[in-house]
Amino acid sequence: MFLSSNLTSKIAMPKIYTQFTSANNFHSSRLKGKVALITASTEGIGYAIAKRLGDEGASVVISSRKEDNVKQATDSLRKDGINAEGLVCHVGDAEQRQKLFDFAKRKYGGIDILVSNAAVNPAVSPILETDEKVWDKIFEVNVKCSWLLAKEVYPELIKRGGGSIVFISSIAGYQPMEPLGPYSVSKTTLLGLTKAIASEVVNDNIRVNCVAPGIVATKFASAITSSEAGKEKSLSIVPMNRFGKPSEIASAVAFLVSDDASYMTGETLVVAGGTYAHL
Ligand code: NAP
Repeated sequence: MFLSSNLTSKIAMPKIYTQFTSANNFHSSRLKGKVALITASTEGIGYAIAKRLGDEGASVVISSRKEDNVKQATDSLRKDGINAEGLVCHVGDAEQRQKLFDFAKRKYGGIDILVSNAAVNPAVSPILETDEKVWDKIFEVNVKCSWLLAKEVYPELIKRGGGSIVFISSIAGYQPMEPLGPYSVSKTTLLGLTKAIASEVVNDNIRVNCVAPGIVATKFASAITSSEAGKEKSLSIVPMNRFGKPSEIASAVAFLVSDDASYMTGETLVVAGGTYAHL
């Protein structure tokens, strides 16, 4: 039964419902016993994902390129009562990726969830004026490393009898953002990668999904979110007229890796304040 907003405002909500009212204070245990490995997770969206999955009961393994960042983020998650371990891992470094998987297995006995979150955008230029080295770097980190991480975690998920993979794409994957052409195309590729892997591993009890965030005011997006002019231009395509919060992306990821999404695979959830998203 649906309650009108008028009615709900007059009724004191029982505690069991109030805990579901915000993306920031959701406390369930739907990921209890799961081990989640999240790349590029010492700040921004990746950190919020680690926090959210940890809040929901998962043991989380976080990582990024800089040791100090890993230490600080691990400490901060632990302070919030989350079972967290961290290790340096540049996703483009095969040896560091292997060490990360070994570390997760040593600390927690296996891996159930991979969130591939790392991306780069080393330079901006019109797509046909982009330097080949820049193009290669973007595709190496954003696409090839996502594929490699999935390929490398696959045997670990099989050992656990199944699991879940989530790729982090972008609203730019649906509608290329100028002058982020190559980055946008790399994010479109992740939509295809999600579908291709999902159908191949469906009989292994592994689900593969993707989240396409809208604009979130992190360090990564500061070029288009920090100045007034950039802000106005970026928000002109967002019906909600605000940037997303990292926690709002994290809640979509938590849903996808949980049993609440048990009948979903090969899909991309757009979390972008209503921004038009169609290929
Ligand atoms: P962010 O706040 O700048 O955080 C980036 C994180 O990635 C940091 O923890 C950084 O730590 C780590 N990192 C960077 N390069 C790495 C690498 N090669 N290997 C491992 N870790 C690396 O970025 P964000 O905005 O949260 O972006 C996260 C993801 O969301 C990206 O895939 C991005 O494309 C996507 N996204 C973002 C937006 C947005 O508006 N912010 C919109 C759509 C999609 P270290 O410096 O220590 O490595």
